[in-house]
Amino acid sequence: MNPVIEQATQQVLDGDLLDRPQIESLVAESRDNLDDLLYAANRIRRRFFGDRVHLCSIVPGRLGGCDQDCAFCAQSSRYTTPVDRTARILSDDQILAAAAEAKQNGVTHFGIVYSGKRVSDAEMSRLEKLIPRIRDEIGIGVCAGLGILSAEQLRRLRAAGLQRYNHNLETSRRYFPRIVSAHNYDDRVSTIRSAIEAGLGICAGGIFGIGEQESDWIDMALELRALGADTVPMNFLHPIPGTPLADQPTLAPRQILRIIALYRFILPRTHLKAAGGRLANLRDLQSWVFYAGCTSIMSGNYLTTAGRSVAEDRQMIRDLGLEAG
Ligand code: SF4
Repeated sequence: MNPVIEQATQQVLDGDLLDRPQIESLVAESRDNLDDLLYAANRIRRRFFGDRVHLCSIVPGRLGGCDQDCAFCAQSSRYTTPVDRTARILSDDQILAAAAEAKQNGVTHFGIVYSGKRVSDAEMSRLEKLIPRIRDEIGIGVCAGLGILSAEQLRRLRAAGLQRYNHNLETSRRYFPRIVSAHNYDDRVSTIRSAIEAGLGICAGGIFGIGEQESDWIDMALELRALGADTVPMNFLHPIPGTPLADQPTLAPRQILRIIALYRFILPRTHLKAAGGRLANLRDLQSWVFYAGCTSIMSGNYLTTAGRSVAEDRQMIRDLGLEAG
Protein backbone atom coordinates (compact mmCIF):
# COMPACT_ATOMS: atom_id res chain seq x y z
CA MET A 1 0.00 0.00 0.00
CA ASN A 2 1.08 3.58 -0.60
CA PRO A 3 2.97 4.58 2.59
CA VAL A 4 1.19 7.94 3.03
CA ILE A 5 -2.23 6.30 2.74
CA GLU A 6 -1.14 3.48 5.05
CA GLN A 7 0.11 5.88 7.72
CA ALA A 8 -3.04 8.01 7.51
CA THR A 9 -5.23 4.90 7.74
CA GLN A 10 -3.50 3.70 10.88
CA GLN A 11 -3.80 7.11 12.48
CA VAL A 12 -7.52 7.32 11.77
CA LEU A 13 -8.16 3.74 12.87
CA ASP A 14 -6.36 4.58 16.11
CA GLY A 15 -8.91 7.35 16.68
CA ASP A 16 -6.78 10.39 15.78
CA LEU A 17 -7.88 13.04 13.32
CA LEU A 18 -5.70 14.04 10.38
CA ASP A 19 -4.45 17.63 10.37
CA ARG A 20 -4.40 19.84 7.30
CA PRO A 21 -0.83 19.02 6.10
CA GLN A 22 -1.58 15.31 6.45
CA ILE A 23 -4.84 15.72 4.53
CA GLU A 24 -3.03 17.61 1.77
CA SER A 25 -0.50 14.76 1.45
CA LEU A 26 -3.32 12.25 1.33
CA VAL A 27 -5.12 14.20 -1.38
CA ALA A 28 -1.93 14.36 -3.45
CA GLU A 29 -1.07 10.67 -3.02
CA SER A 30 -4.64 9.58 -3.76
CA ARG A 31 -4.48 10.91 -7.32
CA ASP A 32 -2.57 7.86 -8.52
CA ASN A 33 -3.47 5.37 -5.79
CA LEU A 34 -7.23 5.19 -5.82
CA ASP A 35 -7.42 1.45 -5.14
CA ASP A 36 -5.36 1.84 -1.95
CA LEU A 37 -7.50 4.80 -0.88
CA LEU A 38 -10.78 2.95 -1.38
CA TYR A 39 -9.57 -0.16 0.41
CA ALA A 40 -8.52 1.95 3.39
CA ALA A 41 -11.69 4.07 3.39
CA ASN A 42 -13.76 0.90 3.55
CA ARG A 43 -11.76 -0.26 6.57
CA ILE A 44 -12.42 3.06 8.29
CA ARG A 45 -16.14 2.88 7.54
CA ARG A 46 -16.33 -0.65 8.95
CA ARG A 47 -14.36 0.29 12.05
CA PHE A 48 -16.68 3.12 13.02
CA PHE A 49 -20.02 2.06 11.55
CA GLY A 50 -19.92 -1.70 11.01
CA ASP A 51 -22.25 -2.98 8.29
CA ARG A 52 -25.21 -0.74 9.05
CA VAL A 53 -26.19 1.95 6.54
CA HIS A 54 -29.07 4.42 6.39
CA LEU A 55 -31.63 5.17 3.75
CA CYS A 56 -32.90 8.71 3.63
CA SER A 57 -35.75 10.13 1.56
CA ILE A 58 -36.75 13.71 1.00
CA VAL A 59 -39.93 15.34 -0.18
CA PRO A 60 -39.91 18.75 -1.81
CA GLY A 61 -42.38 20.57 0.46
CA ARG A 62 -41.83 23.67 -1.64
CA LEU A 63 -40.47 23.20 -5.14
CA GLY A 64 -39.14 25.91 -7.44
CA GLY A 65 -39.83 29.62 -7.43
CA CYS A 66 -36.68 30.49 -5.50
CA ASP A 67 -35.34 34.04 -5.74
CA GLN A 68 -31.77 32.94 -4.90
CA ASP A 69 -29.12 32.29 -7.54
CA CYS A 70 -27.23 29.10 -6.64
CA ALA A 71 -25.54 28.35 -9.94
CA PHE A 72 -26.26 24.62 -9.91
CA CYS A 73 -29.91 24.76 -8.95
CA ALA A 74 -32.94 24.01 -11.13
CA GLN A 75 -35.22 25.73 -8.63
CA SER A 76 -33.92 29.25 -9.01
CA SER A 77 -36.50 31.43 -10.76
CA ARG A 78 -33.60 33.48 -12.16
CA TYR A 79 -32.88 30.70 -14.63
CA THR A 80 -35.01 29.07 -17.28
CA THR A 81 -34.96 25.43 -16.21
CA PRO A 82 -37.33 22.47 -16.47
CA VAL A 83 -38.73 23.48 -13.04
CA ASP A 84 -41.64 25.94 -12.97
CA ARG A 85 -40.82 29.53 -12.02
CA THR A 86 -43.79 29.52 -9.66
CA ALA A 87 -43.31 27.70 -6.38
CA ARG A 88 -45.38 24.57 -5.80
CA ILE A 89 -46.18 23.83 -2.17
CA LEU A 90 -47.28 20.37 -1.12
CA SER A 91 -50.33 20.01 1.13
CA ASP A 92 -50.22 18.36 4.55
CA ASP A 93 -51.83 15.26 3.05
CA GLN A 94 -49.24 15.04 0.28
CA ILE A 95 -46.37 15.31 2.75
CA LEU A 96 -47.97 12.77 5.10
CA ALA A 97 -48.46 10.40 2.17
CA ALA A 98 -44.79 10.75 1.20
CA ALA A 99 -43.75 10.06 4.79
CA ALA A 100 -45.98 6.99 4.93
CA GLU A 101 -44.48 5.69 1.70
CA ALA A 102 -40.96 6.27 3.03
CA LYS A 103 -41.81 4.42 6.23
CA GLN A 104 -43.30 1.51 4.28
CA ASN A 105 -40.14 1.33 2.18
CA GLY A 106 -37.99 0.99 5.29
CA VAL A 107 -36.51 4.47 5.01
CA THR A 108 -35.07 5.63 8.35
CA HIS A 109 -34.77 9.39 7.81
CA PHE A 110 -37.48 11.48 6.18
CA GLY A 111 -36.69 15.05 5.22
CA ILE A 112 -38.94 17.92 4.19
CA VAL A 113 -37.02 20.28 1.94
CA TYR A 114 -38.13 23.74 0.87
CA SER A 115 -36.78 25.84 -1.96
CA GLY A 116 -36.11 29.46 -1.10
CA LYS A 117 -33.94 31.48 1.23
CA ARG A 118 -36.33 31.25 4.17
CA VAL A 119 -39.86 30.17 5.08
CA SER A 120 -42.88 32.40 5.74
CA ASP A 121 -44.46 32.68 9.18
CA ALA A 122 -47.52 30.88 7.87
CA GLU A 123 -45.41 27.96 6.66
CA MET A 124 -43.54 27.86 9.97
CA SER A 125 -46.83 27.56 11.86
CA ARG A 126 -48.03 24.85 9.48
CA LEU A 127 -44.82 22.84 9.87
CA GLU A 128 -44.96 23.14 13.64
CA LYS A 129 -48.27 21.29 13.50
CA LEU A 130 -47.27 18.87 10.74
CA ILE A 131 -43.95 17.62 12.17
CA PRO A 132 -45.51 16.01 15.28
CA ARG A 133 -48.19 14.43 13.10
CA ILE A 134 -45.55 12.82 10.87
CA ARG A 135 -43.66 11.58 13.93
CA ASP A 136 -46.73 10.27 15.78
CA GLU A 137 -49.08 9.16 12.98
CA ILE A 138 -46.44 7.72 10.63
CA GLY A 139 -43.77 6.84 13.16
CA ILE A 140 -40.71 8.11 11.29
CA GLY A 141 -38.01 10.58 12.33
CA VAL A 142 -38.37 13.97 10.67
CA CYS A 143 -35.58 16.15 9.28
CA ALA A 144 -36.02 19.42 7.41
CA GLY A 145 -34.11 21.83 5.20
CA LEU A 146 -35.90 25.17 5.09
CA GLY A 147 -33.12 27.60 4.26
CA ILE A 148 -31.66 30.31 6.42
CA LEU A 149 -33.60 30.37 9.70
CA SER A 150 -33.33 32.37 12.90
CA ALA A 151 -32.35 30.81 16.23
CA GLU A 152 -35.93 31.28 17.39
CA GLN A 153 -37.40 29.47 14.36
CA LEU A 154 -34.99 26.58 14.87
CA ARG A 155 -35.94 26.33 18.55
CA ARG A 156 -39.62 26.21 17.55
CA LEU A 157 -38.95 23.40 15.07
CA ARG A 158 -37.00 21.46 17.69
CA ALA A 159 -39.85 21.91 20.15
CA ALA A 160 -42.23 20.57 17.48
CA GLY A 161 -40.18 17.36 17.31
CA LEU A 162 -37.80 17.97 14.42
CA GLN A 163 -34.73 15.74 14.77
CA ARG A 164 -32.20 17.14 12.34
CA TYR A 165 -31.72 20.27 10.28
CA ASN A 166 -30.31 20.10 6.76
CA HIS A 167 -28.37 23.11 5.60
CA ASN A 168 -25.51 22.68 3.16
CA LEU A 169 -22.40 24.80 2.97
CA GLU A 170 -22.27 23.77 -0.73
CA THR A 171 -18.53 24.40 -1.10
CA SER A 172 -15.60 26.17 0.53
CA ARG A 173 -15.77 29.70 1.88
CA ARG A 174 -13.30 30.71 -0.85
CA TYR A 175 -15.32 29.35 -3.75
CA PHE A 176 -18.83 30.05 -2.45
CA PRO A 177 -19.13 33.58 -3.96
CA ARG A 178 -18.50 32.08 -7.41
CA ILE A 179 -21.57 29.89 -6.97
CA VAL A 180 -23.97 32.05 -4.97
CA SER A 181 -24.21 35.83 -4.72
CA ALA A 182 -27.68 36.30 -3.23
CA HIS A 183 -26.58 35.31 0.27
CA ASN A 184 -23.25 34.65 1.92
CA TYR A 185 -21.34 31.84 3.56
CA ASP A 186 -21.72 33.23 7.05
CA ASP A 187 -25.53 33.18 6.68
CA ARG A 188 -25.21 29.44 6.24
CA VAL A 189 -22.66 28.91 8.99
CA SER A 190 -24.73 30.86 11.50
CA THR A 191 -27.88 28.86 10.66
CA ILE A 192 -25.95 25.64 11.32
CA ARG A 193 -24.63 27.01 14.61
CA SER A 194 -28.12 28.09 15.68
CA ALA A 195 -29.49 24.65 14.78
CA ILE A 196 -26.86 23.03 17.01
CA GLU A 197 -27.73 25.41 19.85
CA ALA A 198 -31.40 24.50 19.39
CA GLY A 199 -30.47 20.86 20.00
CA LEU A 200 -30.97 19.69 16.43
CA GLY A 201 -28.78 17.15 14.66
CA ILE A 202 -26.91 18.62 11.71
CA CYS A 203 -27.02 17.34 8.15
CA ALA A 204 -24.67 19.65 6.25
CA GLY A 205 -22.60 19.01 3.19
CA GLY A 206 -22.23 20.33 -0.28
CA ILE A 207 -21.94 19.81 -3.97
CA PHE A 208 -18.87 18.72 -5.93
CA GLY A 209 -17.99 19.12 -9.58
CA ILE A 210 -18.95 22.78 -9.76
CA GLY A 211 -15.53 23.97 -10.90
CA GLU A 212 -13.94 23.93 -7.45
CA GLN A 213 -10.36 22.87 -6.68
CA GLU A 214 -9.13 20.03 -4.52
CA SER A 215 -8.24 22.52 -1.78
CA ASP A 216 -11.94 23.51 -1.65
CA TRP A 217 -12.83 19.91 -0.78
CA ILE A 218 -10.45 20.10 2.16
CA ASP A 219 -11.66 23.52 3.29
CA MET A 220 -15.29 22.45 3.34
CA ALA A 221 -14.55 19.15 5.09
CA LEU A 222 -12.59 20.92 7.83
CA GLU A 223 -15.33 23.53 8.22
CA LEU A 224 -17.92 20.76 8.60
CA ARG A 225 -15.67 18.96 11.06
CA ALA A 226 -15.27 22.13 13.14
CA LEU A 227 -19.02 22.79 13.07
CA GLY A 228 -19.82 19.24 14.17
CA ALA A 229 -22.11 18.01 11.37
CA ASP A 230 -23.29 14.49 12.18
CA THR A 231 -24.27 13.74 8.58
CA VAL A 232 -22.62 15.10 5.45
CA PRO A 233 -24.68 14.82 2.27
CA MET A 234 -22.43 14.71 -0.79
CA ASN A 235 -24.01 15.91 -4.02
CA PHE A 236 -22.34 15.65 -7.40
CA LEU A 237 -23.31 18.11 -10.08
CA HIS A 238 -25.77 16.86 -12.63
CA PRO A 239 -25.82 19.92 -14.89
CA ILE A 240 -29.28 21.39 -15.37
CA PRO A 241 -30.05 23.07 -18.69
CA GLY A 242 -30.60 26.79 -18.20
CA THR A 243 -28.39 27.14 -15.12
CA PRO A 244 -24.96 28.84 -15.24
CA LEU A 245 -23.36 25.41 -14.75
CA ALA A 246 -25.29 23.77 -17.59
CA ASP A 247 -22.09 23.13 -19.56
CA GLN A 248 -19.87 22.16 -16.64
CA PRO A 249 -18.22 18.79 -17.35
CA THR A 250 -19.34 16.15 -14.86
CA LEU A 251 -16.99 14.36 -12.50
CA ALA A 252 -15.83 10.91 -13.59
CA PRO A 253 -17.16 8.10 -11.39
CA ARG A 254 -13.71 7.25 -10.02
CA GLN A 255 -13.15 10.89 -9.09
CA ILE A 256 -16.43 10.88 -7.15
CA LEU A 257 -15.35 7.76 -5.28
CA ARG A 258 -12.05 9.44 -4.52
CA ILE A 259 -13.78 12.47 -2.99
CA ILE A 260 -16.03 10.27 -0.84
CA ALA A 261 -13.02 8.27 0.36
CA LEU A 262 -11.07 11.42 1.22
CA TYR A 263 -14.06 12.64 3.25
CA ARG A 264 -14.16 9.29 5.07
CA PHE A 265 -10.56 9.91 6.15
CA ILE A 266 -11.19 13.52 7.20
CA LEU A 267 -14.55 12.83 8.90
CA PRO A 268 -14.12 9.27 10.16
CA ARG A 269 -17.09 9.21 12.58
CA THR A 270 -19.50 11.31 10.50
CA HIS A 271 -22.21 9.77 8.36
CA LEU A 272 -21.45 10.40 4.69
CA LYS A 273 -24.50 10.35 2.45
CA ALA A 274 -24.39 9.92 -1.32
CA ALA A 275 -27.14 12.30 -2.38
CA GLY A 276 -27.88 14.23 -5.58
CA GLY A 277 -26.21 13.09 -8.78
CA ARG A 278 -25.49 9.55 -7.55
CA LEU A 279 -27.32 7.77 -10.34
CA ALA A 280 -26.51 10.10 -13.19
CA ASN A 281 -22.80 10.39 -12.45
CA LEU A 282 -21.81 7.05 -10.95
CA ARG A 283 -23.93 4.90 -13.22
CA ASP A 284 -22.84 1.25 -12.74
CA LEU A 285 -20.35 2.23 -10.04
CA GLN A 286 -22.99 3.52 -7.60
CA SER A 287 -22.76 0.50 -5.32
CA TRP A 288 -19.11 1.46 -4.76
CA VAL A 289 -20.12 4.46 -2.62
CA PHE A 290 -20.16 2.22 0.45
CA TYR A 291 -16.72 0.80 -0.33
CA ALA A 292 -15.54 4.41 -0.66
CA GLY A 293 -16.88 5.18 2.82
CA CYS A 294 -20.52 6.23 2.58
CA THR A 295 -22.84 5.11 5.36
CA SER A 296 -26.02 6.51 3.89
CA ILE A 297 -27.72 7.13 0.57
CA MET A 298 -30.55 9.37 -0.47
CA SER A 299 -33.14 7.06 -1.95
CA GLY A 300 -36.48 7.41 -3.64
CA ASN A 301 -37.65 10.97 -3.93
CA TYR A 302 -35.19 13.33 -5.44
CA LEU A 303 -35.64 17.04 -5.75
CA THR A 304 -35.56 17.60 -9.45
CA THR A 305 -33.99 14.58 -11.09
CA ALA A 306 -35.61 11.18 -11.31
CA GLY A 307 -34.44 8.57 -8.84
CA ARG A 308 -34.87 4.84 -8.79
CA SER A 309 -36.97 2.82 -6.40
CA VAL A 310 -36.08 2.34 -2.77
CA ALA A 311 -36.58 -1.40 -3.33
CA GLU A 312 -33.72 -1.41 -5.86
CA ASP A 313 -31.48 0.43 -3.41
CA ARG A 314 -32.39 -1.98 -0.61
CA GLN A 315 -31.54 -4.90 -2.87
CA MET A 316 -28.18 -3.32 -3.69
CA ILE A 317 -27.47 -2.94 0.04
CA ARG A 318 -28.39 -6.58 0.72
CA ASP A 319 -26.24 -7.75 -2.19
CA LEU A 320 -23.28 -5.92 -0.68
CA GLY A 321 -23.76 -7.74 2.63
CA LEU A 322 -24.78 -4.53 4.36
CA GLU A 323 -27.81 -3.86 6.51
CA ALA A 324 -30.21 -0.97 6.00
CA GLY A 325 -31.66 0.38 9.22
S1 SF4 B 1 -30.17 25.77 -3.63
FE1 SF4 B 1 -31.94 26.48 -2.39
S2 SF4 B 1 -31.53 28.67 -2.09
FE2 SF4 B 1 -30.21 28.04 -3.79
S3 SF4 B 1 -31.42 28.48 -5.66
FE3 SF4 B 1 -31.82 26.33 -5.09
S4 SF4 B 1 -33.68 26.39 -3.83
FE4 SF4 B 1 -32.86 28.48 -3.92
